[in-house]
Amino acid sequence: MRHVAIVGSGPAGYYTAETLQKAEDIAVDVIDRLPVPYGLIRTGVAPDHQSIKAVSRRYEGVALADNVRFVGHVSVGTDVGIDELTQLYDAVVLATGAPNDRPLGIPGADLPGVIGSAAFVGWYNGHPDFADLDPPLDSPGVAVIGNGNVALDVARILAKTPAEFAGSDIVAHARDLLATSNIRHIHILGRRGPHQIAMTPKELGELGHLERASPRVDPADLPDEGDDALLEPGMRKSVTHLRQFAANPVAKPVTIDFDFFAMPVAIEGDARAQRVVVERTQLDADLRSHGTGETYAIEAGLVVSCIGYQTPPIPGVPYEHGRGRFANDEGRILPGLYCVGWARRGPSGTIGTNKPDGARIAEMVLEDIGRGGGKAGRPGLDALLAGRGIAPVTFRDWRKIEAAEVAAALEGNPREKFVRVEAMIEAIGR
Ligand code: NAP
Repeated sequence: MRHVAIVGSGPAGYYTAETLQKAEDIAVDVIDRLPVPYGLIRTGVAPDHQSIKAVSRRYEGVALADNVRFVGHVSVGTDVGIDELTQLYDAVVLATGAPNDRPLGIPGADLPGVIGSAAFVGWYNGHPDFADLDPPLDSPGVAVIGNGNVALDVARILAKTPAEFAGSDIVAHARDLLATSNIRHIHILGRRGPHQIAMTPKELGELGHLERASPRVDPADLPDEGDDALLEPGMRKSVTHLRQFAANPVAKPVTIDFDFFAMPVAIEGDARAQRVVVERTQLDADLRSHGTGETYAIEAGLVVSCIGYQTPPIPGVPYEHGRGRFANDEGRILPGLYCVGWARRGPSGTIGTNKPDGARIAEMVLEDIGRGGGKAGRPGLDALLAGRGIAPVTFRDWRKIEAAEVAAALEGNPREKFVRVEAMIEAIGR
């Protein structure tokens, strides 16, 4: 029997398990520090993007296979060491994603009211780590830093009315606080221009259909229309949306301003964020941004920085600090130790990008481990955890949590999620 442990039960983890599970004579353990599976699908993908979240049904099919097991509520690095896992399994695949925010690194970034997107997205999506975030929504101004899809998610969630969350799985604490929001002016800050955005057309187009909020683009920021022909088709569509926003300004109570060529250089305020000081930029021949020395201020009681993520390092595992991911050669870290998904590539691409990535890493693992090395595998992990008094959450337990969430939903949001680990464990009956 060959034994493989996958650390992380998000898309990269389950796509890897999907290919491994089809091989003969193999047992796959998918380990997660939370008692609930699916990683970013549950706590990262926007709550109003239910069609994307539906992919978890495919992962469920993998999780229910005879040779795949969910080992929840077990923290690698705390409950069990990486070195212990590599001794127990023929291969260990790190599918831990990139849950940490890249630091903003400007004066005032540590003021209350300045929040990274991992925390903010985790808060409205029910990640237990951020259940107590309580972001300040009392000021009219908000600055969202970054020109990627996460910035769009954050701006859209902040702009929506309670009615627009119908059918979503936004958690009650976020829905209720957002309903009391005083936000009127949302600024999305991009340090480069419209041709350098990292926003996809479908997501950008959604901003044009919000009930009480309208996107605004300064026509002066747009390059000559003829230059759009040089863009790849998806990007061209995105820029077409920006052109439409510039051409048809709509007056709605909440504005979403695209501030291009705008680099935040400081956040100021008296004991909390009150304004962002922004330096205007220009691009060099290599399309890098440089400050011009000209600054202006944006009033903002909430600043959400959406400038990308990092994989948290694990002691003893080689790490590439500049890129915020494990040091790896096409997925190989050390003998018997691999990485996949954002932990391998860095935080780029969509959920679907992890499918070929997971399949490729799984094939590599199968080739490397051959018939296996007679390792202890599952029974070994079970004995080790039992010796430490740790009872993992199984997939059957997760079903109980899910059923309890559905029961709780009958009284409120039809897609209720537990936001506290204690509530999840209680639902199992422990
Ligand atoms: P991203 O796409 O890499 O965008 C990060 C943005 O932050 C870029 O505009 C970047 O500008 C800017 N930035 C970086 N450092 C900065 C700094 N110091 N100051 C100001 N701006 C800075 O990252 P993301 O938005 O976090 O998204 C991560 C991945 O998830 C992406 O692949 C994204 O497409 C995906 N995603 C997809 C969806 C969806 O499909 N619906 C939703 C959410 C996320 P520069 O270009 O100038 O570096």
